[in-house]
Amino acid sequence: MPTKKRTVRPAPAAKKCGTCKGSGEIFIPVRVGGRKQRTTDDQQTGLCLACLGSGEATD
Ligand SMILES: [Zn+2]
Repeated sequence: MPTKKRTVRPAPAAKKCGTCKGSGEIFIPVRVGGRKQRTTDDQQTGLCLACLGSGEATD
């Protein structure tokens, strides 16, 4: 049985988006509309507008 060498290839260094840290999503605090505008503890994720969800820094 031949021993296979595992070639560890380093991932291509893609620059991560600084806004979403490479996740492509950002957290948006949920605001409950109405007369009393209050911010809840809930957070929803939204598409990162800096990288448009790709997670890669664009410049
Ligand atoms: Zn981003």
